[in-house]
Amino acid sequence: MNKVLVLLGVLVVAVVVYTAMSPQMDDGSSSAEVAQTSAVVDPTTAFIDDERIRNAESEPGNWLSFGRTYEEQRFSPLTQVNKETVGQLGLAWYKDMNTNRALEATPIVVDDTMFLSSTWSRVYAVDARTGETKWSYDPEVPGEWARKACCDVVNRGVAVYKGRVYVGTLDGRLVSLDAATGSVVWEVDTLIDRTRFYTITGAPRVANGKVFIGNGGAEFGVRGYVTAYDAESGEEVWRFFTVPGDPSLPFEHPEMELAAETWKGGSWWEFGGGGTVWNSIVYDPDFNNVYLGVGNGSPWTRVIRSPGGGDNLFLSSVVALDADTGAMKWYYQTTPGDNWDYTAVQDMALADMEVDGEMRKVLLQAPKNGFFYVLDREDGKLLRANPFATVTWASHVDLETGRPVENPDLDYTQKEQWVLPGPLGAHNWQAMSVDEEAGVVYIPAQDNPLIYGMSEDWKQSGLYKRNPGGWNTGLEFGRITQLVVDNIADQPTPKGYLKAFDPLTGEDKWVVEIPHYWNGGVLSSAGGLVFQGDALGMFTAYDKDTGEALWQFNTYTSMLAPPITFEIDGEQYVSILTGTGGGDLFGGEPLPPVAEHASLTYNNYGRLLVFKVGGTEELPVPTVRDRSIPVQADLVASSDQIAAGERHYNNYCAVCHGLAVRSGGSIPDLRRMSEGTHTAFNQIVMDGLLAANGMAAFDDVLSEQDTTMIHHYVKARAEQDRLAAAGEVSMGQLTWQ
Ligand code: CA
Repeated sequence: MNKVLVLLGVLVVAVVVYTAMSPQMDDGSSSAEVAQTSAVVDPTTAFIDDERIRNAESEPGNWLSFGRTYEEQRFSPLTQVNKETVGQLGLAWYKDMNTNRALEATPIVVDDTMFLSSTWSRVYAVDARTGETKWSYDPEVPGEWARKACCDVVNRGVAVYKGRVYVGTLDGRLVSLDAATGSVVWEVDTLIDRTRFYTITGAPRVANGKVFIGNGGAEFGVRGYVTAYDAESGEEVWRFFTVPGDPSLPFEHPEMELAAETWKGGSWWEFGGGGTVWNSIVYDPDFNNVYLGVGNGSPWTRVIRSPGGGDNLFLSSVVALDADTGAMKWYYQTTPGDNWDYTAVQDMALADMEVDGEMRKVLLQAPKNGFFYVLDREDGKLLRANPFATVTWASHVDLETGRPVENPDLDYTQKEQWVLPGPLGAHNWQAMSVDEEAGVVYIPAQDNPLIYGMSEDWKQSGLYKRNPGGWNTGLEFGRITQLVVDNIADQPTPKGYLKAFDPLTGEDKWVVEIPHYWNGGVLSSAGGLVFQGDALGMFTAYDKDTGEALWQFNTYTSMLAPPITFEIDGEQYVSILTGTGGGDLFGGEPLPPVAEHASLTYNNYGRLLVFKVGGTEELPVPTVRDRSIPVQADLVASSDQIAAGERHYNNYCAVCHGLAVRSGGSIPDLRRMSEGTHTAFNQIVMDGLLAANGMAAFDDVLSEQDTTMIHHYVKARAEQDRLAAAGEVSMGQLTWQ
């Protein structure tokens, strides 16, 4: 590709049909805030209080809170769908959610109403028997806020409590809705700084008259915290910061003094420090605790974030707070001095378990770093930390000190290194399920490495300047494609698994290997089944004792969301949302041997599917997506220009449009842009022509010339892949320099 090309076309601005690039559905903000239909929500049925959630076992037909009960085990006592009847499980109904971006929510079901969230933090109350919409609510998140999200405009669910529905919006608001009508009761701004790239994608949790909510944004550079609001009034009750702030200012609460002693040198507060609580917050009625799952450091690299060393509390920790006051009771740090984006935000479950001959109240978590933690909920004592996937960054966790023993051979400040797990984690937010009776946890696990290498700036000067408009990891993202290509021979193969894992012995009871790494959350049941939707579009019921697949349904769409189950009038239903994306947008279209996922083959159909025994509804059979790459006319640029475009693309575009301009299927693939999009390319990037769809302007970080270089690079990549598909160059030639 060492050609010198001349850009010939006359750039005439035309009406752009962006949707011509790939089959897109309406995904922009709509104007209606609350829409209602004839079906209604009975205001008394939505009245869930602490008592009901605490006694959720007495109403197994409902799914009252995020993880079904306060323990969040996602194990249902329902048995109508079981090993014998699952063969007759069929689709009862489905609902198009009018999106082709990732759906990640856990719906709440109370009596005959299902409450769920969709993309752009929209909320729906639907008839759980038929799928008819009772009301919907659109918080009208500004389209350009999508740029502030690391992992797309997703939402993982709502909380229903005392006649209200609570949702956190992508742009940082917490909204209380009337459960009967969907109208807004109150709304608060949870953000401490709206100029920083904060987002909310997690489900709020409720208990003791309070709503708990955190946020995300560590990749961009923010400071993490969680706030408790009065559920009735929306008034702030307490706020707990997870990392220390500007040392010239007073500590917000005493725990910050303790934390600050573990941060040394540098200016972490300018980067934000990280430690966002973007997913798991669990209430424990046994101790009146709230557990926070705390995220990674910002930037990722500790030599930049805290050059004097230190553990950098409370990054990558489980922190136990008094639910009423927000005062800390204990903490356990999974990854001291996090250096790899090893969040501990993954779903936590509570259980009563016999450990070393003694009954204990334990907390279970499989965070990104690959070790499965069993902690005593009373004092945070570490009881077990067995690896549940391939781990190379550390040899083991020392149970005496409670600390991991790092592998010194993989210090990436000296040399680029493939490390397992990578930033997608050995397990991410896709929920696991706890089977207390069998003594196992069903984990959607993965081996997915990243090649870590320090940024060129740091290598040359030992300095790293914050970029307010992009990712601030401290790694060399500008050269990431080249790094991968140059080191591909040493790459550990990415793989996905569903594992029945014994957290006490560290042994696998059974393992199902899945040919793609990015798969869905898990539900298990007293019917003897484990349900999971996978990347290949298969919704499968496994025998929970053996891992044998007993039933499969082809949804034609990759799945991430966890299934749930409920019962109405004596009939058991199993439901799941379809549609992939989220944190794997950067990975994009996988290279062999990772299997192509269903949303690439067909489309990313955002749907709510509900099954029952004897269900006969059918999904439309989709056509295979046309993924031919058009001839790139008028395209010629010097290799220097293309290389400059590549750096900018990797720094600003790849996190959504995919590494090497290979989209994962839910965000437009730029190799297949229409003529109109090519014509308006600079206006889209610089002026925000498509901001309403989530493609915000980048004129704060890119110049007109940078944008033109990106365009050269995109076209060069498209042409390269087109020629490769035609057999004219080999796929191995991923470089042109
Ligand atoms: Ca992260």
